Amino acid sequence: MYPNLLMKRARLTPNRIALRFQEKEWTFAQLYNDALEFAEKLHAKNIQPGMRIAVLASSSPELVFVLHGCMQLGCELVMLNERLTEEELSYQLNDSNSDFLLVDSHEKRNLEFVKKFSFGDVQAGKRNVFEIENEWSKNRTITIMYTSGTTGNPKGVRQSLENHVMSATGSALNLGVQPNDCWLCTMPLFHISGFSILMRSVLYGMTVNLHTKFDAEQAIKEILNGFVTQMSVVAVTLERIITVLEEKNLTFPSSFQTMLVGGGPVPLNYLERAIERNIPVLQTYGMTETSSQTTTLSSEDAIRKLGSAGKPLFFAEVRIDGKDKIGEICIKGPHVTKGYIGAAESKNPLVDGWLHTGDVGYIDEEGYLYVVDRRSDLMISGGENIYPAEVEQALVKHSAVKEAGVVGRQHDKWGQVPVAFVVLKDKVSEEELKEFMKNVIAPYKQPVDYYFVDQLPRNASNKLLRRELLKYLNEN
Ligand code: ATP
Ligand code: MG
Repeated sequence: MYPNLLMKRARLTPNRIALRFQEKEWTFAQLYNDALEFAEKLHAKNIQPGMRIAVLASSSPELVFVLHGCMQLGCELVMLNERLTEEELSYQLNDSNSDFLLVDSHEKRNLEFVKKFSFGDVQAGKRNVFEIENEWSKNRTITIMYTSGTTGNPKGVRQSLENHVMSATGSALNLGVQPNDCWLCTMPLFHISGFSILMRSVLYGMTVNLHTKFDAEQAIKEILNGFVTQMSVVAVTLERIITVLEEKNLTFPSSFQTMLVGGGPVPLNYLERAIERNIPVLQTYGMTETSSQTTTLSSEDAIRKLGSAGKPLFFAEVRIDGKDKIGEICIKGPHVTKGYIGAAESKNPLVDGWLHTGDVGYIDEEGYLYVVDRRSDLMISGGENIYPAEVEQALVKHSAVKEAGVVGRQHDKWGQVPVAFVVLKDKVSEEELKEFMKNVIAPYKQPVDYYFVDQLPRNASNKLLRRELLKYLNEN
């Protein structure tokens, strides 16, 4: 058993700031009170402990109270991604077998779900007290989160209390915790990158500075004023921050401790530019199935081990499957999910207790993990393996290239050949890029064709959808 997290935190440090949104602040005591009020009002709507509540909302303070309220009532949260279409949402609502759907006032879609309430409907109702639990079972499901759907249909992942607590604890043992820590949360709360910040906040007694969405200028402003000490980003958002800093010739203050960057491959060029701007970038590797970070590079190693995702956190173990140096990354630890629900339930991701991630990587002689790519995106050209991420990394080394996406085109002689989609920030011709690539990457890895595009297809987590690029290639 673990203590009821928010209750415990509200007793330990009632007056510390839990949440900051624009000019407003809430202490842990206030957060606990607001969460309990919401829980009692939910209960009055006949929502019972153990029920599955799907939540569809943008990041706001109210959403934080709602999420904590559902947890206080003992419900399982199904975290829906607000950027999905109605059809995709209906799929997840049915797949998760949700009992109720809660939406915020911005939600205008006409989602057909029998038991649906808006946050406002619940808030307007009366309260119905219930017995608050002082202790929570470790195996209790806190959240059901769908994977980003980068490789196929999103899978519903069960994340237990133990998964969240051990993930946050492992992170703290690596990054350290200070009383004045404040994590800037611009990642969506329905994604583990955002939700894990709420969990860390309650466990550490740390302030969350919440933004509804990512805005580079706004984020930089908060960091420069010295309150924010941590932030999580993905490669694309990191690049936007760096670009603004470069344009304004600014660097980050030393009060800022950690820029956690993960969710996908991070081009080396971004990391180097970040370091020049005094951004303490810490590359991390994690996934929905591991309730956030599994490995993280510490800031001491950021330069020496540039490009590595670091070492496993205290409770995590990582090994590479197979006999070769490069193979599938497998993960073990108390932060790893016990499994999927719904349609993916039968796909047990664990083999002898090890999570088989579908990602390929290697571990160097000092124990640092390098994530190479997704196994499913591997191309084979004339018998040689090509990982598209490596080619993309090479492309963004060119100063005119902002982002790149690489996929394999079928080829009679070679099987597959790499083709590049690039977003430019300055003018450059296909010939110039081809010339440039000759000096940075082996001939068989050099893209044979270039498509210049305004943007790359990305999902709601800003991840490159290579399967959309492939679809485009096949249709044109
Ligand atoms: P789906 O499982 O539905 O295809 P997804 O794997 O993108 O979607 P997430 O759980 O959000 O869903 O993302 C985890 C994945 O992100 C990892 O398995 C890995 O492929 C990628 N990833 C995370 N961190 C890194 C990193 N540091 N370097 C490279 N890839 C990373
Ligand atoms: Mg995945």
